[in-house]
Amino acid sequence: MPRPIFHTPTEEIVLKEYPNTLNTPELVAEITRWVHGTGHKPAHTRPAMATCRDDTQQDMIRVLEAFHYLPAFNAHTLAGLPRGGKTPLTAFYHHIPDEGLGVIIYGPHVGIDSEGKWGMVERHHRKNPGHSCGALWGVYELWSQGDEGPYTDDPEMTAISEELLAYKEEIMQEQQETSHPVRKMAEFVYEKGLEMLKTRIQTLQAQDTEQHPILLVAGLNIDQRFDDNNKFDLREITLFSQGKQVEQHHYGKIQ
Ligand SMILES: [Zn+2]
Repeated sequence: MPRPIFHTPTEEIVLKEYPNTLNTPELVAEITRWVHGTGHKPAHTRPAMATCRDDTQQDMIRVLEAFHYLPAFNAHTLAGLPRGGKTPLTAFYHHIPDEGLGVIIYGPHVGIDSEGKWGMVERHHRKNPGHSCGALWGVYELWSQGDEGPYTDDPEMTAISEELLAYKEEIMQEQQETSHPVRKMAEFVYEKGLEMLKTRIQTLQAQDTEQHPILLVAGLNIDQRFDDNNKFDLREITLFSQGKQVEQHHYGKIQ
């Protein structure tokens, strides 16, 4: 029986839906096992954080430092949707040490507050729970008012709406009592963004004069009350080398 990592009732609800969820140190330990498996060391490995800009996502950087990784490259976007074009990934790639390894930690996020409400989270020194992911909420609320974008002076929100619009009907129908459309949006961002990243990594490795292996760590971040140590539903780790997927593990549900 795994030890509880959420407050109740969040524990029962989240672990029923995402039983594979890890604490951040457990996640970084698993990443480190892979790093060693490729013959590298954390001190010679450049991580990149490809998660939402939300402060609930930042604790992982402290844990990576505690495991002696190099300082993390900031590849944050609103909602974690990797729509920054090719330059951010290329810049990260050129910061990987000679003969070193790159690790991209990718995942959108969704909160669940202490009453068990999806898409919400209590934040420090704020009386009422707030939205998580706020960017996905923003698009959801604009859609609810019939506004599908583009949104003036808001390129990242426009990008989120564009990517998810094909799934709008399915998203809006998501049950609000036991789940939420914003949670469904996070799941679609995960799928779409994962494919984008895989394509970009392989194209970059195939075309760039430098050669560095990259580990892509993918999952869904789950925020809970006063979340200084967010949780990660780890779904897959893939190793890319010379423009190809050379190793992959899908993390099944731990019963
Ligand atoms: Zn967010």
